Amino acid sequence: MSQPLRLFELQKIDSALDRARARLAEIEAALRGNPTVQKAEGEHESARIHHHEAQNALRNAEAEVGAQQQKIDSNQRALYGGSITNPKELADLQHEAEALGRHLARLEEIQLEAMVVFEEAEGALATALATLEAARATAAAEDQAMLIEQKALLAEVETLAGARNGLLPDIAVEGLTLYESLRKSRKGLAVVAVSEPECPACGATLTAAQAQAARSPNQLAQCADCGRIMVSG
Ligand SMILES: [Zn+2]
Repeated sequence: MSQPLRLFELQKIDSALDRARARLAEIEAALRGNPTVQKAEGEHESARIHHHEAQNALRNAEAEVGAQQQKIDSNQRALYGGSITNPKELADLQHEAEALGRHLARLEEIQLEAMVVFEEAEGALATALATLEAARATAAAEDQAMLIEQKALLAEVETLAGARNGLLPDIAVEGLTLYESLRKSRKGLAVVAVSEPECPACGATLTAAQAQAARSPNQLAQCADCGRIMVSG
């Protein structure tokens, strides 16, 4: 195999390694935190807090109604118990009974409103929990698929790295230095296969001499524009 073709082979291996490593990084990030699950967790937490607040508000409203009913009971016992006979006192108790009754009606309205809010919060919490559980189940299935893909990619990386190490001793130092430098400056793509009279990477038109040079097994032809090594494809 000629030096240019060895570099082209190296490029193919390195491009495959770049792709595999980029996908491995994506998988690692996805396995750390699934955005759909995180969003569902946030919404479930909001629903839980709202439900808790609505529950407290309902309990308070119920306690106030209960306390008001006790006041009314004690008023009614005084009013009808027979121990108070003074008409003025009885009239006062009667007025108090009316006022207590009006306030009870208001407290019962508040209790009813709190019940409605609480029932809505319960429904919202159940929905948020179902959404979260579905998101977790989907994520678990995706994670499982990604773990399988990750294992295959790690094996692929090992195979490619082995092939790369096997190829390196057969590549001349000057070519390798140029290749590594182009890999850094040209977004990982140092060698291109040329089949048309233009550079497939940057689009520069090749002269007949350059196209011929690309076909030569004895020299490294470079694109006059981007500097990439060209091999005949
Ligand atoms: Zn070019």
